[in-house]
Amino acid sequence: MSSARVHSVHIDENDLELYCLGRATSRQLAPIERHLMECPLCVSRAHAALEYIDTLRSALKRIEESAEPDPVQSP
Ligand SMILES: [Zn+2]
Repeated sequence: MSSARVHSVHIDENDLELYCLGRATSRQLAPIERHLMECPLCVSRAHAALEYIDTLRSALKRIEESAEPDPVQSP
């Protein structure tokens, strides 16, 4: 049997997002990091959130770039 401690509450989705965005305050950060050390599930959630944020960022970049006049000629 696995002896992993069961947490009734996982990291809140908003907290996880703040953490991945690097916007969590140090007071928020401590319990999040402690939980991540014990909970592989939330680690993978954090990875997924980071990927999501990465996708969002590159999408935003593309939008910004396309907002500027584009010298590329269309065929
Ligand atoms: Zn968790």
